[in-house]
Amino acid sequence: MQTIFEKLDQQIVLNPEESQLIQSVQSICKNVIAPNAARFDETGEFPWENIHAINELGLNAMFVPEEYGGAPLSYTAYLYCVREISKACASTGIIWATNFHGMKPIIDFGTEDQKQKFLPRIAAGAIGSLAITEPHAGSDATGMRLSFTPDGDDIIIHGNKIFISNGDVADLYLLFGKWSEISGSKDAISALIFEKGTPGFSVVGLEKKMGHHAASTASISFDQCRVPRSNLLCNPGDGLKILLSSLNKSRPSVAAHALGIARAAFEDGVDYINERQQSGKKIIEFQGIQFQLADLASELYLCESLLWSLGTSVDHGAKDFIWWLWLLSGLSR
Ligand SMILES: Cc1cc2nc3c(=O)[nH]c(=O)nc-3n(C[C@H](O)[C@H](O)[C@H](O)COP(=O)(O)OP(=O)(O)OC[C@H]3O[C@@H](n4cnc5c(N)ncnc54)[C@H](O)[C@@H]3O)c2cc1C
Repeated sequence: MQTIFEKLDQQIVLNPEESQLIQSVQSICKNVIAPNAARFDETGEFPWENIHAINELGLNAMFVPEEYGGAPLSYTAYLYCVREISKACASTGIIWATNFHGMKPIIDFGTEDQKQKFLPRIAAGAIGSLAITEPHAGSDATGMRLSFTPDGDDIIIHGNKIFISNGDVADLYLLFGKWSEISGSKDAISALIFEKGTPGFSVVGLEKKMGHHAASTASISFDQCRVPRSNLLCNPGDGLKILLSSLNKSRPSVAAHALGIARAAFEDGVDYINERQQSGKKIIEFQGIQFQLADLASELYLCESLLWSLGTSVDHGAKDFIWWLWLLSGLSR
């Protein structure tokens, strides 16, 4: 059965450089990330050892154009890396994938100065975070209340965010808030880059989750934090388009993450049913187990096929791929 998945993997469109990188990722997954996964999940400790191994490989460089110290690769290669890392450790998968979610908008919307200031740091392994959600603003992000108040050459930030992946450890945050001089729940939304170490910032708490214990999900607070106005992305009020664009490109990696976990569970299950014996037989020989296995394999194959088809389309310039995500989320229920 696993041969089907090996064949599917072979059909993923990658160039030789990307294939070589995937092999290096698989190697650190096997030698460092997977052996650490259970320990980090039990302790809930942030998996620095895994992040250092990822950074030694220079994996963040794939997000960043060459002129800013990066080595850009395809979106498919990014999804593949997310799936591989998540197969080995679901927490480390989220942490690494989030770097891209938070930092891609700097490439898409940043000024030349912002790119020169921040992108080399990302390429070198900075941890990124995307901060949208607030206690009163979940699915409807336009309800956010965190304020950006202009003050000469600075912006004063005041408010709170919750459920922020990497929120306690990030070096750079893509932070969304409302511009104080603009009214209207959508029109006021603005985005800026917030740097670690800015006075007034604090981590209020960490969520106790049902899983992914080593991937932190933080409540963070901004108490009159002052940042230079040059950290604002685009203009005041341009935040909603940045927000929607960053979510658009980040959601397929959530699918890659989930499919990495599913694939690992499937492979472990197949190993187990080939080893476990009852009534004098390996349990894979019971037809009831074979039916379940066939159902699981079909669903997994279908979802993975959709993911790689989506990756190829994005690499060919597709901008509108929401229907793929509906299909993926419908199938994975
Ligand atoms: C592990 C984890 C990591 C996260 N990481 C980040 C992060 O890095 N950055 C960040 O900004 N946020 C993050 N979030 C927050 C996440 O984006 C929000 O949880 C999400 O937006 C949903 O908001 P909510 O939890 O307030 O749910 P609610 O919006 O309160 O929704 C509750 C329920 O109502 C349903 N619902 C809401 N609106 C509608 C509607 N219009 N029609 C039909 N049903 C509806 C929802 O589907 C859901 O079932 C994270 C959350 C989790 C759990």
